[in-house]
Amino acid sequence: MKNPLEPDCAALDQRDRERFAPLQELFAPGARGIIYFDAGSIGPMPADAPRRVQETLQSQWRIGRRRSWNDTDWLEQPRRLGARLAPVIGASADDVVVGDSTSVNLYKLIRNALSIAAPRRVIVAERDAFPTDLYVVEGIAEAGLAELRVIANAGELNQALAPGDVAVVALSHVDYRSSERHDMRAVCALARTHGALTVWDLSHSAGAVRIELRECGADFAVSCGYKYLCGGPGAPSLFYVHPKWHDAAWPAICGWMGHADTFAFRRQFTPATGPARHLVGSPPVVANVVFGAAAEIWSRVDIEAIDARHRSLSDTLIALLERRCHGFGIELQGPREHERRGGHVAIRFERASALVQALCDRGVVASSREPDTVRFSLHPITTRHVELEDAVERLRDLLDKAAWRDARYQHHVV
Ligand SMILES: *Cc1c(COP(=O)(O)O)cnc(C)c1O
Repeated sequence: MKNPLEPDCAALDQRDRERFAPLQELFAPGARGIIYFDAGSIGPMPADAPRRVQETLQSQWRIGRRRSWNDTDWLEQPRRLGARLAPVIGASADDVVVGDSTSVNLYKLIRNALSIAAPRRVIVAERDAFPTDLYVVEGIAEAGLAELRVIANAGELNQALAPGDVAVVALSHVDYRSSERHDMRAVCALARTHGALTVWDLSHSAGAVRIELRECGADFAVSCGYKYLCGGPGAPSLFYVHPKWHDAAWPAICGWMGHADTFAFRRQFTPATGPARHLVGSPPVVANVVFGAAAEIWSRVDIEAIDARHRSLSDTLIALLERRCHGFGIELQGPREHERRGGHVAIRFERASALVQALCDRGVVASSREPDTVRFSLHPITTRHVELEDAVERLRDLLDKAAWRDARYQHHVV
């Protein structure tokens, strides 16, 4: 029996058909019968990725070997991928490059920001940030290169900036647990007022919701490539440098791929212009080819439409959860307004890990984070509204039966 107050998921999918069905077809379907809500851990595979890899291995590696460095785009990939993905994060083509991991890029860009902001040496970071982001800044401080000032939340930013000694504010745009999204424009303006630079981690917003790096005046940003952006397992990360900082300081790690003229083999390091100076060693060609299949899809996407569809999906999920799973001890963890949320909808449940394992056994792949967060990461292209309805039904059924109490769900999994 349909409650007239509930979202009509079939109708919402029908509304999206004309615009999104052609894009959905560019992704390979996942396992039959599985509802996948974990694009925030690893995004779905572009259908064209296997063919591209096969072609690269067979003709560019097996046949071409060394000549492929000259005959193909291997060396151009980091810049080309960056240029294609730039609109997804509200950046210009020349300001984004792809390479290394998110952790490594955070290190390089925070160090670069410290060089620019010297003699200031304070980094402001959030207490509950993703662990690797904190390890990176702790390591920089431990090496004597900066001083760390940890805040509990954005509300403490003003106070942290007040002494006028902050070099870098390093924040995750979206919290990996609660999905709470910072007001990027406001934070950038505040940091600027106090003479501090901003370094953003976009891992839980890039490819899910609209980001306007350039308009907000963000100084630096990095994003994971293998989550919503669908770059493949362990995909390289992308990073952004505001044009005013392109040539402001030497990169933190100087390598031949960041040299202005790599194959001149000069004794002296001359940094390349633009964000490419932060490239270090040889590009991961096969991984970049996989990412290229996703970048091709992103280049056909209207980011406003992506944002609107993500809003529709996540609002629908929240409405369904609240109407159908009421009274089972779950509550919405993150904000209710789309503008304050990232790629996932987070709920609190005391036994989050057991619940997620039980859900997985019923064909719904979500993820949990300690201590009590359940994350439903919705992909703005591939997720369908009817899947939300189906998943919430399965969730309600297992809550009703308290199936998560089963002994086999009580150990910890990744
Ligand atoms: C996924 C994620 C990372 C991943 O870092 P890698 O170095 O690419 O493994 C970093 N930061 C945040 C906030 C993440 O969500």
